[in-house]
Amino acid sequence: MKLAGIDLHTHSTCSDGLLDPAALVAEAAGQGAEVLALTDHDTMRGCGEAASAAAAAGVRFLPGMELSTRHGDHDVHLLALFLEAPDLGAFAAQRAEARRERFWAMVERLDGLGLRLDRDDLARRIQGASPGRPHLARALVAAGHVADDHEAFGKWLARGRPAHLAQRMPTTAEAIAMVRGWGGVSSVAHPALDALEPVLGELAEHGLDAVEAYHGGHSAEQAAALAAQSASLGLLVSGGSDFHGPAQGRPPGRSPLPAEAWAALLERLEARGDEDAA
Ligand code: AMP
Ligand code: ZN
Ligand code: FE
Ligand code: FE
Repeated sequence: MKLAGIDLHTHSTCSDGLLDPAALVAEAAGQGAEVLALTDHDTMRGCGEAASAAAAAGVRFLPGMELSTRHGDHDVHLLALFLEAPDLGAFAAQRAEARRERFWAMVERLDGLGLRLDRDDLARRIQGASPGRPHLARALVAAGHVADDHEAFGKWLARGRPAHLAQRMPTTAEAIAMVRGWGGVSSVAHPALDALEPVLGELAEHGLDAVEAYHGGHSAEQAAALAAQSASLGLLVSGGSDFHGPAQGRPPGRSPLPAEAWAALLERLEARGDEDAA
């Protein structure tokens, strides 16, 4: 199968993206997407709307999520792909609660640093969304406390900066097991950006399926190195834009994922279905 456009990693307004699910699908379809996954942070809230829009646009839609997890000292973003009819149980509600708690605690931290933000404006920004630091970054810019998102993270919000708070989250091993239980396929998001190459072997032992070698923020050299490392560890590869909004400069709907790699992911999904049936 020749792929015109495949994108297995995007965000909408249901987490920290700037386009609502239908607008995201339209944008990706306009870019020639044939296969598109929505992977909002810790929520599948946008997947219904995206699925309808994709059906109308003739795009194959894949429901998914990007899970925040912890592996020892590392923050690991784990993509959960092909979540066709998962029983998430209390997971989504627990994650929403943890994210909200951490969001408002970071707002108080910012207060203490002299960076006061309007509560009503913040509440509007996170309405219906899985809240995250990008919402705080945008509010800091709008209030004139910083010039742009980059400065907001660099000065205040990044790990190790004064307003940062970790959120309660599952371990990566737990999350890998959950994704498998939901009938999905797991892939470590943007490993080069998070310097995760040294732990991919350990994660493979925990049952990880794949590595997002092809990511909008990876260079061609990083992608090639990750593809080689994945092959040697017996891991599959995935590819996605990690599109958050038009201002970001890289469009949704495309990634340089080879057609064979996509076929291998579909095979893994089929095998998973057989496991469930057994
Ligand atoms: P959170 O889920 O609240 O921890 O926020 C993580 C999100 O913040 C990531 O998915 C990115 O979209 C964004 N992010 C993380 N670091 C930066 C940064 N240095 N500059 C801009 N955005 C960032
Ligand atoms: Zn994000
Ligand atoms: Fe991420
Ligand atoms: Fe992402």
